[in-house]
Amino acid sequence: MADKLSIADRSALMSRIKAKNTRPEIAVRRALFASGFRFRIHSKDLPGKPDIVLKKFKCAIFVHGCFWHGHDCRKGTTLPKSNKEKWIAKLNSNKQRDQINEESLRRQGWHVFIIWECELTDSICRLQQFLERQRACASAKIVSTTFAAD
Ligand SMILES: [Zn+2]
Repeated sequence: MADKLSIADRSALMSRIKAKNTRPEIAVRRALFASGFRFRIHSKDLPGKPDIVLKKFKCAIFVHGCFWHGHDCRKGTTLPKSNKEKWIAKLNSNKQRDQINEESLRRQGWHVFIIWECELTDSICRLQQFLERQRACASAKIVSTTFAAD
């Protein structure tokens, strides 16, 4: 497809699309909420403002659009025809920024989960398995320390 928009216009358009509360993001939130998990959204105090944060399990979740965050899938690797070099530079810098944020979260002891829009269902499934396990371990800890105190 020929890109009729200038890079600035498209950036503005994309940042609107990228806006908070995207459909995949809402899908993840609904699934977690339905499983009884409580969370905060768009935590400004953490690197990269993770879309969903479960403080109790030190879990930070990013729900990434494939194009904008340069996923290694068809949608993520299809660039607008015009200004190709600029797009590559722009999207690479997005990817780099994502990596820096993920690394600094990990260094602070956070579990970082990336959910790609094209793998939404599978990712939600894996995320829930992870959180269920964390929850089970947390309650096992409470029970076992109660017994140890006897
Ligand atoms: Zn993708």
